Amino acid sequence: MTEDCGICGETVPFDATVHAMVHTRSEAGVVEAYVCRQCYDEHLGPMFERLTEREPSA
Ligand SMILES: [Zn+2]
Repeated sequence: MTEDCGICGETVPFDATVHAMVHTRSEAGVVEAYVCRQCYDEHLGPMFERLTEREPSA
């Protein structure tokens, strides 16, 4: 089983994908995509790491 990466379009094995879901709270509803591990590390991972850093550490 394979999936096409939503960012680079690469076809990757299913267990090498990351499932990303975005709840838009608009008519678009839930947007979901599978991205490859490499794109996650390059694009999505750093974004969420920055969000986490803003949380109070106490
Ligand atoms: Zn990719």
